[in-house]
Amino acid sequence: MQISDAQLQQVNTQVQRLISSDNFYGRRLREAGITGVSSVEDFLALPFSEKQDLRDAYPLGLSAVTESEIVRIHSSSGTTGTPVIIPYTQKDVEDWAIQFARCYEYAGVTPEDRVQITPGYGLWTAGIGFQAGCERLGAMAIPMGPGNTEKQLQFMIDMKATVLTATASYALLLAEEIERRGIKDQIHLRKLITGSERSGEKIRQRIIDSLGVEYYDIYGLTEVYGPGIGINCAHGHGMHVWSDYVYLEIIDPVTGEVLPDGEPGEIVLTTLVKEGAPLIRFRTHDLSRIIPGDCPCGHNEHPRIDTITGRSDDMMKIHGVNVFPAQIEEILGTFPELSSEYQIRLSHLDGRDTMRIYVETNGSVDWEDLRGRVARRVKHRIGFTPLVKIVELGVLPRSEKKTKRVFDERYD
Ligand code: ZN
Repeated sequence: MQISDAQLQQVNTQVQRLISSDNFYGRRLREAGITGVSSVEDFLALPFSEKQDLRDAYPLGLSAVTESEIVRIHSSSGTTGTPVIIPYTQKDVEDWAIQFARCYEYAGVTPEDRVQITPGYGLWTAGIGFQAGCERLGAMAIPMGPGNTEKQLQFMIDMKATVLTATASYALLLAEEIERRGIKDQIHLRKLITGSERSGEKIRQRIIDSLGVEYYDIYGLTEVYGPGIGINCAHGHGMHVWSDYVYLEIIDPVTGEVLPDGEPGEIVLTTLVKEGAPLIRFRTHDLSRIIPGDCPCGHNEHPRIDTITGRSDDMMKIHGVNVFPAQIEEILGTFPELSSEYQIRLSHLDGRDTMRIYVETNGSVDWEDLRGRVARRVKHRIGFTPLVKIVELGVLPRSEKKTKRVFDERYD
């Protein structure tokens, strides 16, 4: 979707403000000789930015306002190296809540609902985002935070929670626990809103079947407000991204070329009205595509992205073939006798790369036969034969946060 005149003006305002500031972007834009943005060509001449740039700006080098205007900071996970700090002004905090409330509205959540919030609170943008949007909408927030499944279930029952917000992994864990305890008839959930973790169709279907809920996927990342910059509507899994707050591009992750609607590539975001830490053409490394055409809901001003299929930095190279975990997951999803859980382990054995795939099934199927069929289907679809290991249902770890499913042990 080409950038509109209104969006160009917004970007120009951001760029002017950055150029006159001494922050990271200001220096970069001045170095690139950029003086303003008044056309599509001008926009496409703006340099991309990367997470590493944001790390380099630690602690407050991203700020485009005076320190007294900053009312809050958040930080992205930073499991490796320096964290990224994102400063927010009063308006940024409000804008984020407005966007998040819109997400709830798209999901059909009303002030009558009771929203159980299980994502974490703190430096993360997760819990507080879900909470602020919920309060802005006027629904009742039940701010549980993560973990303590016993208490989660007690509150879910006693407070009659109607909406659950969770990572897909934790929703699955809760769904399995509700089934195991046979307490489904005491649960009042009608909607599930997940975020921050890509979830395969099989996990999604498993949760829907088990809890009997409508399933919504929220999109966002800490660098750009947090979760809440988009969500799917009632018409399918395409997530509308709020075009009055961010401009969305899909690029070829290798060449950086902007791709036409419908083509899969990497999501690049530009904030349009952010004050504390505006981002210009930020490479998210999330892989998706813009869904072309109109959405039956009629909100065509907000373009839709498809389910995130992975991250461009998750790509595994094995026997010269590029493989994404989502491709393996999709193949496993074609076997009804397998559970939704799996693990991929890459190792270097006897001079060659090996992929082991751990999958779960129950005792009623012929394991040896199943093993062979899974291996052959991967060979047929992707081009190499993995070692398939079958384990009993429930053996692979379930997590309260994001479940790690790919382990590259080749360079350990
Ligand atoms: Zn729609």
